[in-house]
Amino acid sequence: MFNKKNIFFGFILIIFIVSFSHFILESKTKNELNIYSGRKSHLIEPLIKEFGKNKKIKVNLITGKSDEFIEKLKLERNNPKADILLTTDIARLSRGKENNLFAKVNSEILKKNIPSKYTSKDNYWFGLSVRARPIIYSKKRVNINELKNYEQLANKKWKNRICMRSSNNVYNQSLIAYMIINLGEKEAGNWIKNLVKNFARKPYGGDRDQIKAISSGQCDITVANTYYLANMLNSKNEKDRKAAEKVSVFWPNQETFGVHVNLSGLGIIKNSKNYKNAVLFLEFLSSKNAQEIYSKKINEYSIRKDVTPSETITKFGKFISDDFQLEEIGKQIKSAIYLASKHNWK
Ligand code: FE
Repeated sequence: MFNKKNIFFGFILIIFIVSFSHFILESKTKNELNIYSGRKSHLIEPLIKEFGKNKKIKVNLITGKSDEFIEKLKLERNNPKADILLTTDIARLSRGKENNLFAKVNSEILKKNIPSKYTSKDNYWFGLSVRARPIIYSKKRVNINELKNYEQLANKKWKNRICMRSSNNVYNQSLIAYMIINLGEKEAGNWIKNLVKNFARKPYGGDRDQIKAISSGQCDITVANTYYLANMLNSKNEKDRKAAEKVSVFWPNQETFGVHVNLSGLGIIKNSKNYKNAVLFLEFLSSKNAQEIYSKKINEYSIRKDVTPSETITKFGKFISDDFQLEEIGKQIKSAIYLASKHNWK
C-alpha cells in the first residue's frame, strides 16, 4: 500500500492543500481590516457603513477600554490582531507611540486633510476630531463677567464653588499638561494647589456628574468637555436635559493661550497585516464626507475647517483654541500626574 508512487502522490497532494489553504487565507486577509476601538460601536459604525459603499473591505470592529487595548497590543507586538487603534485623548495616543505600537504613515491625502497640529510630528498617529474642555458654569449663580481664564479658578473667591473630576482621569491630566506648557511647572503646581482649595467636594464621577452637581447646587463651576453637555441637552432623559439647561459654556483664555483642546484619533499598528487597507480607511476618515458624519454623530469639532459642527455645538459659540502642536501635551503627562499628586488633586 505504501509504495513509492503513493507516497509521491500523497506528498504532492499535501503540498497542494497547504498552498491552496494559504492562498485562501491570503486572499481573505487582504480584504479585511481589524480595529480596536476605545469608542463605542454606535459612534464608529456609520463610518464603516459609508466606507463599505466604495470599498470591498470587511471591517471588524472590536470595542473595549483604550488602556486595555494598549496593554494587549504590547503583548501582541509581533503578531498584532488589530490593524488600527482608535482612541480618545492625546495622552493615550502618545502612550501608543512611546510604546512603539504604531507604524509610520506617509500619505499625501492625510497630510493635506489633517492640520499638522493634530498629528504626531512624524506621522505615527492622526487626530480624527477635536474636543474642547472649557469652563462650564451655573447660569443662575455665576456672573459671566467674573470669568476670565483657567488660572483665575485658583482665586479665593471661588472657595467651595468648584467641582472637578479626579486627576486620575486623562482629560484632567491633559488639562494640567496644557497648564504646564503655558505657565511652566512651578506656576502650574501653584495653580493646582489653590484650585484644590476651592473644591466644593472631593473629586468624584465623570464630566456629566460635574454638570449635574452644578445643577443641583453643590457647586457653581467645573471644567468639562463640551460634547457631554451637548449630549445631555439632546438626551431622552428629562433630568439630564433639565440639568444641562441650567449651565452654560465659557471660553477661557481667549486673549492669551486659547482654550485647552484634545483629540480623538488613531494610529496604524506596527506589523499590521492589512496596512494598505488601514491607510485607505484613515484617508477616508479624513475626507469631508466622513468628517461630516463623525463630528455630528459625536458632537465634537472636525479636524477640517470646511466642516461645521453639530447644531447644538454651534450654539456654544466660536472660540480660539491653544496654538501649539498638540503632541506636546503627551510629553507633559508624567509631570502632570506628578504635580496633581504632589498638590493633592485626588
Ligand atoms: Fe469622554
